[in-house]
Amino acid sequence: MDKISELAERYPHLTFGNLRFGIECGDGWADIIHAFLATAEEVTAAGGGTLHLLQIKEKMGGLRIYYRMADTPQKSWMGIDEAYYLAEARSFHVCEHCGRLGLLTYNGLLYATRCAEHAAELEAELVSPGPCMKIVVAGAVEPYDPDADPFISTLSD
Ligand SMILES: [Zn+2]
Repeated sequence: MDKISELAERYPHLTFGNLRFGIECGDGWADIIHAFLATAEEVTAAGGGTLHLLQIKEKMGGLRIYYRMADTPQKSWMGIDEAYYLAEARSFHVCEHCGRLGLLTYNGLLYATRCAEHAAELEAELVSPGPCMKIVVAGAVEPYDPDADPFISTLSD
C-alpha cells in the first residue's frame, strides 16, 4: 500500500496525520481503499469541510476505516458514509493478501478474507455464508450483492 505521504499528496482534501501505524491491512485491499478515498476526496472538495482519517485496518476479516469529519455539510458526510459501507462490504469478497476474489475464512484463531490459495496458507476454512453486509444506495439501505458490483465482477479468482 502507498506511503501516507503519497496518499496525502494524492488526496489533498483529506488528512492522514492520525494514521500513526500507517495502513494496517494487506495490499490486496489497496484498490478498495483508493476507491473510498477518491470518493471522499471528490465529495469533500465539492462540498467543503475536512475529512480526517483516523485508522485504516483489518478487523474480523473485514476492512475498517475510521474517520472524523470537521465542518462537513450533511450531504457530504452521507456520501462519504455510503462510500465507506461499500468499501467494507467489498472487503469480504477480495483477498486481503493479493486482491483476487476472496471469501471470509476462519482457522480457529483468526478471521481473514482470502482467495483459495491464501486461505490454504492460513490453514483456514470458508465461513459459510459470510457476513450479510448492507450498503446505502441513493439514501436507501439495501443488502450488498457482490455479483451486481462491477468492482468485484472484474476480479479473477
Ligand atoms: Zn489471495
